[in-house]
Amino acid sequence: MSGKEGKVFNGIVKFYNVAKGYGFLYADDLVDDVYFHINDWKNKSIPEAGDKVEFNVVKQGAEKTKAILIFLLEAAPEKKTNDDRIACPHCERKMVPRVVFSYGRPMYSVCPYCGKMVKDFNGFATIVNSAFNPKPKSKSSIWFRVMVALLLVVYIFFLVILFAAGAR
Ligand SMILES: [Zn+2]
Repeated sequence: MSGKEGKVFNGIVKFYNVAKGYGFLYADDLVDDVYFHINDWKNKSIPEAGDKVEFNVVKQGAEKTKAILIFLLEAAPEKKTNDDRIACPHCERKMVPRVVFSYGRPMYSVCPYCGKMVKDFNGFATIVNSAFNPKPKSKSSIWFRVMVALLLVVYIFFLVILFAAGAR
């Protein structure tokens, strides 16, 4: 590989780890598989093994390379069926979750229809999202959110106490 700036490669997603937000691509023009991070995935879908993509490559450190500006050309065959879509746990519609980023990091994915959280990449987003979701549907979910909000307040309260105790 020449590493020439701006060269666009055509390749295929080898695998993608949803939980960790990274994966590898391979291309005929490249000897080694290329690492990619979800931040460089410029598509609304979640990467899937078999997705045909085009991308640029940048050097990362001495020897390692990384794919950037990854654009989906053709979804993996399984994606053309409805199999890749999952039923939203909230509104139950079939959908592909949309990833929400904060400061360049994938925080959580949401349902494109009802906007509620589907998968949390971060842990904290679950608490905040469920506590402050603007459209509660049932009474029980309102009570659930009140409870979560209270727990959050207690949690912050303890943090403050711990901080104050440590500062002395
Ligand atoms: Zn939904």
